[in-house]
Amino acid sequence: MPGFEIFGEEEKKEVLDVLETGVLFRYGFDNARNGHWKAQSFEKELCDLTGAGFSHLCSSGTAALCVAMVSCGIGAGDEVIVPPFTFVATFESVLNIGAIPVFAEIDDTLCLDPEKLEDFITEKTKAVIPVHMCGSMAKIDRIKEVCDKNNIVLIEDACQSIGGTFHGTALGRFGKAGCYSFDAVKTVTCGEGGGIITDEKNIYDNIHMYADHGHDHIGNDRGLENHPFLGMNYRISELNAAVGLAQLRKLPEMIKTQKRNKKMIKDALKEINEVSFRNIPDEDGDTATFLSVFLPDEKRARDIAGKLAKAGVTGCPYWYDNKWHYIKKWDHLINLSAPTKLPIHKYENHPDYRNIKLPQSDNIMKKTISMQIMLNWTESEIEERIDKILGVFK
Ligand SMILES: *Cc1c(COP(=O)(O)O)cnc(C)c1O
Repeated sequence: MPGFEIFGEEEKKEVLDVLETGVLFRYGFDNARNGHWKAQSFEKELCDLTGAGFSHLCSSGTAALCVAMVSCGIGAGDEVIVPPFTFVATFESVLNIGAIPVFAEIDDTLCLDPEKLEDFITEKTKAVIPVHMCGSMAKIDRIKEVCDKNNIVLIEDACQSIGGTFHGTALGRFGKAGCYSFDAVKTVTCGEGGGIITDEKNIYDNIHMYADHGHDHIGNDRGLENHPFLGMNYRISELNAAVGLAQLRKLPEMIKTQKRNKKMIKDALKEINEVSFRNIPDEDGDTATFLSVFLPDEKRARDIAGKLAKAGVTGCPYWYDNKWHYIKKWDHLINLSAPTKLPIHKYENHPDYRNIKLPQSDNIMKKTISMQIMLNWTESEIEERIDKILGVFK
């Protein structure tokens, strides 16, 4: 999966273009930059890829989530529904804008369960952020219906699913805004970077201004720009954007390779009765960065996860014990630990994170093992891997 597996001449060329001009800033320096606008080019190509009307790059996926929420009118004291299975960045970004993360159940897609969503909606719920985890999608059509019915903003965390689609529409395009991450271990990497897409011009304007100190980006003299509102610095640099631009152009090929590699392993695992597979609402739209399987119960899942590690089958996380990706081990959230007082410490009615009960999610995560799909595997390496995996199930 990680795009860094296939760094080559293309990334070097884009980076050298930037270094040769000395312009690392994404705005201005029109003459000095010798026609190179890496962030702008990336944004244009991200629109082409997703079909979105507007896109904007940020310094990270976490930044993208913060900027997207603020730009869609989510702020202090608002409740935002998120899944308990995600990278910590999803709820962190909610806390960072002073909003309150509320955790809802996931289903066998490993993403938010649309059928349980309404149980978690209150009069303070302003947004839902489903996360398209591990390269595949939530039941995003149903989630959108629930959001629309309840007049709630839908923002997609597609940080792990760039290039994914649901019935032909890009993941990230179902709500008011969609966010991607281009950090060092994502499918498309900039080193550090993120992106936001939207179809609404007014939201886009909020996004590019808020992500750059509230500057309105009008006129040629940067120092004379107006500030319609307060902002922050969530900008990407031209160097990071240059790497990502080369990577984005390789995405279709990456997904093809991942699909082929995943299929070989999945076909082999179909022979094993005790294994069932993650529900993928639209297989064609899967980016195939992971193959996720269910074992009959927690005991067997732990047994298999241990044996896979012992057999040297690398990259097979048992998420239920993982400190980055499942709520059970998010001690900092559970205790609301911080070096200082955060806005959430002032709210009396935020959930008691020590006491979150999500039995359906627990039951699913307890029996889930994922297998990361790499780009550089040769066919014989995959066959060797399959032999080892089948050996573990004997
Ligand atoms: C990686 C990731 C993020 C955050 O992205 P960064 O670029 O690392 O800040 C957010 N959500 C999910 C689901 C992620 O996997």
